[in-house]
Amino acid sequence: MQKSIYLALGTNLGDRVLNLQAARDALPPTVSLVASSPVYETPPWGVSDQPAFLNQVVHIETELSPLGLLDYLKDLEIRLGREPSIRYGPRQIDLDILFYGQQIISDENLTIPHARLHERAFVLVPLADLDPEFRHPRLGESVLEMLAKLDTTGVEKIKS
Ligand code: AMP
Repeated sequence: MQKSIYLALGTNLGDRVLNLQAARDALPPTVSLVASSPVYETPPWGVSDQPAFLNQVVHIETELSPLGLLDYLKDLEIRLGREPSIRYGPRQIDLDILFYGQQIISDENLTIPHARLHERAFVLVPLADLDPEFRHPRLGESVLEMLAKLDTTGVEKIKS
């Protein structure tokens, strides 16, 4: 059965458009890209004194397990030039698993659904472009219902 697996991509260092493209292009053969949202420019979150981010959400299909997918993504972040930084600090590329179908996972290294996605307009706005009715398996709310509670000021679609 097809699972709805969504990843969030974020970048605020270097050539940001290229960083997103490089991440999409570097997905392994075991991962197929079903759809990509538009790209949004968003103000920095958490640490405000840093460049603006570009954010995107992609829908993928894979037979990789959630932990197998996480391992691949964390390795890819390093291959694409991500350096260690402070929490919420600047980064070449950030790759997060938002949803893995309706699975709920609380592992030492992996929380699915992503623990803070429902607080983040820069995640929910692009996700709403792909799957507005997708329901958060723990909170029971749709993407649009979660988004309605957030301030989306500053989340601007960029021309592709
Ligand atoms: P980050 O700073 O966003 O790259 O995340 C740091 C750590 O968050 C990673 O090393 C993961 O082990 C952990 N993590 C927990 N849940 C997730 C998730 N859903 N997607 C990605 N990373 C996660």
